[in-house]
Amino acid sequence: MKTIKYYIIAGLFALSMASCGNSNAKNNENNNSKNLKEMKFEKVALPYATDALEPVISKTTIELHYGKHHQAYIDNLNKLIVGTEFENADLETIVKKSDGAIFNNAGQALNHNIYFTSFKANGGGEPQGKLGEAIVAQYGSFDKFKEEFNAAGATVFGSGWVWLAKDASGKLFIEKEPNAGNPITKGLTPILGFDVWEHAYYLDYQNRRADHLKEVWKIIDWEVVSSRY
Ligand code: MN
Repeated sequence: MKTIKYYIIAGLFALSMASCGNSNAKNNENNNSKNLKEMKFEKVALPYATDALEPVISKTTIELHYGKHHQAYIDNLNKLIVGTEFENADLETIVKKSDGAIFNNAGQALNHNIYFTSFKANGGGEPQGKLGEAIVAQYGSFDKFKEEFNAAGATVFGSGWVWLAKDASGKLFIEKEPNAGNPITKGLTPILGFDVWEHAYYLDYQNRRADHLKEVWKIIDWEVVSSRY
């Protein structure tokens, strides 16, 4: 019995020492991020509550996708660019000029900033104005455009994105991009991107990516998206 008590006390002591150590490490970390924060990237603010997009995208998915995945891309990017030619560059420049791990994290940082600001509660409908007109002129109708966009998204092999993008003349393109790809690397301007990484839909739709893509149109904030055209 005495031996057990000894182990419990020794264990508690070890735990309290460990937590002291952790809090010191945490303080250092906080100090570091404070110093770095002034010149480093942050994820875009979420313009709606985490449950606002239900049932199309669940609160749990938003909490993980925005709270954990997007945060990790931003944190990784901030660490990776230290001491490189990209240390003081803007995000789009980094995406255009980098490769490897920096590109992967910068691409995902940019992609998710665009993605999470494309939605609102009770969104949907069709784009009005110039973007709406360009879509109809090029694809015949908004429904035909949606069909083509969904088909592209459903056939991205593995993780990636499907984008609506434009060139300098305003011509529209539906672009399939693998992994962290963004059409700005091809000289195009991204207007709307659907994330087809499994983390974007698996909790809510499991393997049914095509079903997820059909639903996402119900939460599009066309005012914001059209302003990118
Ligand atoms: Mn994602």
